[in-house]
Amino acid sequence: MTAFLRLKSLLLLLACVLVSDCASSDSSSAAGRGGARDSATTVYLSREEALRTVFPEASRVLEEEIVLSADERRAAEELLQARMGERAFTVYAGVSADGGLDGYAVIQAEIGKFKPFEFIVGVEPDGHVRRVAVLVYREARGAEVAHRRFLEQYRRKTVQSPIQIQRDIIHITGATMSVNAMNLGVKKVLSVIEVAYRKQPERIEKLLRSGRQVFPQAKAAWKEGSGSFTRGTGLEVREARYIMGSLCEIRACGGDAKKLRSAIFKAFCAMEAADRALSDYRPDSELSRICREGATAPVPISELTAEFLELAEKLERDSGGAFDLTIAPAVWAWGFRKGAGFGPHVDRAPTPAELDELRPLVDYKNVSLSRGPSGRWEVRLLRDGVRLDPGALGKGFAVDLAVRQLVKEGVSSALVDFSGNMYALGSPPGEESWLVGVRDPVRPEGVLGMVKLQNQGISSSGSYEKFVELGGARYGHILSPQTLRPVDGIFGTTVIAPTAALADGCSTAAYVLGEDALPFLRKEPGVEGLVVLGGEGGSSRFLATKQWNLSTVEDAWAVTR
Ligand code: ADP
Ligand code: MG
Repeated sequence: MTAFLRLKSLLLLLACVLVSDCASSDSSSAAGRGGARDSATTVYLSREEALRTVFPEASRVLEEEIVLSADERRAAEELLQARMGERAFTVYAGVSADGGLDGYAVIQAEIGKFKPFEFIVGVEPDGHVRRVAVLVYREARGAEVAHRRFLEQYRRKTVQSPIQIQRDIIHITGATMSVNAMNLGVKKVLSVIEVAYRKQPERIEKLLRSGRQVFPQAKAAWKEGSGSFTRGTGLEVREARYIMGSLCEIRACGGDAKKLRSAIFKAFCAMEAADRALSDYRPDSELSRICREGATAPVPISELTAEFLELAEKLERDSGGAFDLTIAPAVWAWGFRKGAGFGPHVDRAPTPAELDELRPLVDYKNVSLSRGPSGRWEVRLLRDGVRLDPGALGKGFAVDLAVRQLVKEGVSSALVDFSGNMYALGSPPGEESWLVGVRDPVRPEGVLGMVKLQNQGISSSGSYEKFVELGGARYGHILSPQTLRPVDGIFGTTVIAPTAALADGCSTAAYVLGEDALPFLRKEPGVEGLVVLGGEGGSSRFLATKQWNLSTVEDAWAVTR
């Protein structure tokens, strides 16, 4: 965000969406309420939260991927007294304030009865288990293995301990397979740490010297990419980059790491091309040129910019002008754009007279897109002073370009998360669909529940997202093109759509439409929307195009269809 920029920088959803598996720093919020449930799946902790749980004292956490040599694997199997399917592990190291080793951790996935579940095993520098905690549990039964009382039993175990059901670990009726799986996983982690680090102290030195920093999240670390993970039965490569001032994370699954990395690289390049064409912060972008020159002569534009403007025009028409790219002068007047070219610095709300002056400029009909005599797209602005704001559509649009590129490179399973504007391509290996959390716009640190997505985009808009404080009052960043004032009376919207761009545009339009959003959303094929309105005395009211399958809040929906 999400988008969530404070949060955005933590990632997810600009507004609001977060991925439910262990990677999202925000799914942690689910844990605060005892887990977000999707049928049988419960997300207890995000990866970051899990790491903070096992490294409460560490000043930094580093990670590295290790591949055991044949000898190391044999040694580890001997300690484990069982065969080990995997050779590669991602190992985390907590670093104490004095730069020494605070502890190790591995996030391990094991199959319970039918499905994999993920848990973190934190290990003291001396090889004792510090803590075990579950990130995600997917079985219909046996969730007791995620309970603290059960997990306490692993504390202080070492690689020499039996870690066996009914010897030193109590049996949970109905969860035998999950308990056995966890026993195996804990012991596996202890064996690997023993063999790969404790017996080879120089490896610890190397990890402390050259491990990748996981948190505090360094921009540089994100830029370099975030690594490979095992996901279910397959491989997942996850990389992140700052684009358009926001964090974008791409995860791609399947195939081999090199191919996935190259596809992700090309996808980021496609997003950067969109930024170069559409940014209102870059004076050399096509969009900036349109604003500077479009009122004097037609400005020739690329196919990419034309596609963006066509989609904007469709949203403008369909929403009856609630969505409007020409909102820019009003956005500047309220001080939402800072820096050169965005008008004077603003320290008070614009007066009604000042807004009246801008009114003729804010009308999407002031923009005329057509093909010139040579067949090339061109744009004219029908009034001097008209300016375009790509903010409500640009990120979703860029996500779609990334997805197209991934598909072209043969990727069939990926999740692109551009600060909460997301697209779920296919589904993760061995799973039915991507599971994404919908941020609670009333309590943005929490989630309403999880939705399943497959070949769909999702986006949220919220006033918690971005606001200015002028004269002691707080103003949200989405404006009504009619009043040119920040829209109020609404907490937020979330929209699912066949593309990320449509989800992005519709979530902003629905925010402006508020009470009247549903007829608009229902006009768009494949679009589902959720609108959280403000009610009496700070209460909230839900409007939805359908009953969303959000586990934790079923009763809250005013189902209107
Ligand atoms: P985010 O920028 O957090 O992803 P949105 O997609 O909802 O959130 O876009 C909000 C941005 O869109 C605002 O910051 C502003 O730049 C621009 N905007 C504000 N009001 C409108 C509007 N009525 N129509 C189109 N764009 C708008
Ligand atoms: Mg939007």
